[in-house]
Amino acid sequence: MGSITLKNVQKHFGEAKVIPSVDLEITDGEFVVFVGPSGSGKSTLLRLIAGLEDVTGGTITIDGKDVTEAAPAARGLAMVFQSYALYPHMSVRKNIAFPLKMAKMEQSKIDKKVEDAARILNLSDYLERRPGQLSGGQRQRVAIGRAIVREPSAFLFDEPLSNLDAALRGTMRLEISDLHNQLKTTMIYVTHDQIEAMTMADKIVVLNRGNIEQVGSPMELYNTPRNLFVAGFIGSPR
Ligand code: ADP
Ligand code: MG
Repeated sequence: MGSITLKNVQKHFGEAKVIPSVDLEITDGEFVVFVGPSGSGKSTLLRLIAGLEDVTGGTITIDGKDVTEAAPAARGLAMVFQSYALYPHMSVRKNIAFPLKMAKMEQSKIDKKVEDAARILNLSDYLERRPGQLSGGQRQRVAIGRAIVREPSAFLFDEPLSNLDAALRGTMRLEISDLHNQLKTTMIYVTHDQIEAMTMADKIVVLNRGNIEQVGSPMELYNTPRNLFVAGFIGSPR
């Protein structure tokens, strides 16, 4: 579970061909980073995979099933929004449980799943607090917890750390990598930060004006960039 294939995926907004045509193969369990400058189409591509935007053309397949026309909830993916998407009036427990409540799961099962997720995320001691009583990093972990309990076939992150300070970003980077090691679930992680891309990815997808410039491991891109754009973006600081 968690393989995703894009074939000739296109997205136009009016006259603007924001994604001219993308082909991409994501293997089950991979940590894939979409990297590129602001406006290069990273969020759009992620939203197309999530089903939050309709494609203009092409097909999206998840675990062998064509989901091009499927509603977001039917795709089995979890989009992790920034910590600010938490409900401030609800406890951490209720925030994490929210998607399961909506799915009308039995309360005893909900409690177990929430407590399991809290353990993985080191939030067990904070379940009765409200988001306002947590640090930025803890709030981000609650947002991830809300995704974990749904047991998605892939997690989608859109610049989840961009509102955090540099020190906390470093910590959260390690925590998300650790989470991937524990769950071994496919993750697609959008960032414009080269360090995040180089340190977190199994596979980096470099985007430029809605086109994929190169796909490869951090070392492949670093050692054998296909062109100057990739070299400039991934290369060592000069
Ligand atoms: P990134 O996440 O890499 O910064 P985006 O995917 O947000 O880039 O945007 C890519 C391009 O698509 C930008 O030029 C942006 O202005 C345009 N775009 C994104 N969403 C819309 C929209 N809903 N309507 C019109 N243009 C959009
Ligand atoms: Mg974006």
